[in-house]
Amino acid sequence: MKLGGWGRYPVTDCTVTAPRTPDALAEARTSGPLIARGNGRAYGDSALNEDNTVSMRHFNRIIAFDEVTGQLTAEAGVMLGDVIDAFLPRGWFPAVTPGTKYVTLGGMAAADVHGKNHHIDGGFGNYIDWLDLMGPDGTVTRASRNENADLFDWTVGGMGLTGVILRMALRLRRVETGWIRQRAQAAPNLAAAMEAFEAAQDAPYSVAWIDCLSTGDALGRSIIMLGEHAPLDRLPTRFRQIPFGPPPRKKRKIPFNLPGFALNKWTVSAFNAAYYRLNARKTGTTYVPWDTYFYPLDSILGWNRIYGRRGFVQFQCVLPDDAARAGLEKLLRTIAHAGQGSFLAVLKKLGPEGGRLSFPMPGYTLALDFPVSDKVLTLMDQLDRITLDHGGRFYLAKDARLSSDILHAADPRADAFAAMRRDTGADTAFASLQSERLGL
Ligand SMILES: Cc1cc2nc3c(=O)[nH]c(=O)nc-3n(C[C@H](O)[C@H](O)[C@H](O)COP(=O)(O)OP(=O)(O)OC[C@H]3O[C@@H](n4cnc5c(N)ncnc54)[C@H](O)[C@@H]3O)c2cc1C
Repeated sequence: MKLGGWGRYPVTDCTVTAPRTPDALAEARTSGPLIARGNGRAYGDSALNEDNTVSMRHFNRIIAFDEVTGQLTAEAGVMLGDVIDAFLPRGWFPAVTPGTKYVTLGGMAAADVHGKNHHIDGGFGNYIDWLDLMGPDGTVTRASRNENADLFDWTVGGMGLTGVILRMALRLRRVETGWIRQRAQAAPNLAAAMEAFEAAQDAPYSVAWIDCLSTGDALGRSIIMLGEHAPLDRLPTRFRQIPFGPPPRKKRKIPFNLPGFALNKWTVSAFNAAYYRLNARKTGTTYVPWDTYFYPLDSILGWNRIYGRRGFVQFQCVLPDDAARAGLEKLLRTIAHAGQGSFLAVLKKLGPEGGRLSFPMPGYTLALDFPVSDKVLTLMDQLDRITLDHGGRFYLAKDARLSSDILHAADPRADAFAAMRRDTGADTAFASLQSERLGL
């Protein structure tokens, strides 16, 4: 069947199986190297293998929950949204969440996803107590920080290339309500945005939306959104009747691919300028439901189709603290100069590293979506170079087109990862289009 990632680039014919038991999964292994697939929310080709893509959607049972510690034991194909539906009404929320709840626990572990709280809490891997992994020979090994620690560290962030995660135990976070107290502020340029992040180190959640087509004194102007879980006694009275928030909003659907010309430098620039002006007027404190705060895009099902038939690519890098300001300015200037703006340009501060191949490092991460075109692909090569020159690295869960040379030059851990795969035989058992392209 034709299969792609969330960016719908690349799309390719893949043989897909969906085993229901560990034995059937072990059997799938015998027909050549495979890649596990969660819910296909990685943007590029990390969950694609033309000969053997194994969907984990049937491994979707919740196994146990400890009401005292918040430890949840669940199969890897369980969706994050289902965890929230089941446990938020009991006062528990994921300790780390990406910007969509349509991801599986296995996919979150394999990418060691980060949330808006990475600067304080680190990545998803920090909350995994153990995981069970089916390795190259079909046997299942439990790995944790104390048991098979190397395997654990390579698997968290290892993009499915160390084995297939069957189940895991992870810790949820206690919350009193499902409301987020949000404080929004406008920053007229990049320097002001970065100052705002530095001043907000204690804010549990922080993220900025950047107008990536603004130039000159307004280069990097942003709306910064800080957030924290609202305690019950701080909630406005009218919300206390529904402490875990209103039912999620009705979802709208994008029914067809928009024509490619709908997104161009003028429409994107007009959108970005209007968004900045509108939100700059609405700064201040508000209480927003968890769904609106964490997953604004989920309310428009299939929004990836607005980019048209050719699909879209995301560029996401992280730059270390000392080079971040210079590097970000250069990235933003290059994007604005190319006239290739992005609707979604997001800036975040990240904290300490996680697993051995995990993306985050202390510094700033910039993420931007672009509709695929030759011009955009050329621009992205330039952005790669700038990232490399500033000591940065790239997020594999968003990548669809990075070159092996750039990856290995930017991230020496990639060589060690590939060597580990050769030593353990993982290289002949697990492979994706991405791992082949990137020489992992
Ligand atoms: C709108 C949107 C917002 C996002 N926001 C963020 C964000 O804020 N932060 C962030 O870090 N990421 C973010 N992401 C990326 C997303 O969280 C990751 O790509 C995640 O890995 C997707 O999970 P999935 O279950 O869909 O996995 P898939 O896309 O199916 O697979 C992703 C990777 O996980 C591996 N994998 C999946 N299941 C298993 C398994 N059982 N065992 C072993 N390997 C497995 C695959 O082989 C592949 O390498 C976002 C994505 C979208 C679409």
